[in-house]
Amino acid sequence: MKYKKIVFFFDRDGVLNKDIIHPYKRKHFFLLPGTKKALKYLLKEKIKAFVVSNQSVIGRKICSKKQVNNFNRMINKSISSNYNVIKKFYICPHHPTKGVGRYKKECGCRKPKNGLLKRAIKENNLLKKNIVMIGDKKNDFLAAKKTGVFFQYRKKNFFKQVKLITKNYL
Ligand SMILES: [Mg+2]
Repeated sequence: MKYKKIVFFFDRDGVLNKDIIHPYKRKHFFLLPGTKKALKYLLKEKIKAFVVSNQSVIGRKICSKKQVNNFNRMINKSISSNYNVIKKFYICPHHPTKGVGRYKKECGCRKPKNGLLKRAIKENNLLKKNIVMIGDKKNDFLAAKKTGVFFQYRKKNFFKQVKLITKNYL
């Protein structure tokens, strides 16, 4: 598959799904308005997307890594059963004070730090100038700024936002 040059980085909670407290179960899974349409658009237009998300729920032992992976899978499955529109979910499991055991640390990946973004760029051979990050918190903005990639806060009409960014880029 030939992909377009533009690549999206999304925060997860509050951008794709509803940011209720610690969403990790099926009953916590609510896609926000516009998410489905936006992701289907990316699929149709052959545009890569990645998620970069703080999930200290893992490090705090609120849920397991497997449960987070399952939750992430639900996002992709709700768009297509045979194709992953989110190519990979980059997750930070740590927390500097509430993490348990090896998860309690000042890591380099928890946003506003930019370890997740750097890893995604490196692993996928991406060019910073082609990346657009969308988040809902200042931490997302700061991580994008530190990395040197374009950033926007999620707008109410997420589909229109994604489409406009894409059109302006092409
Ligand atoms: Mg968020």
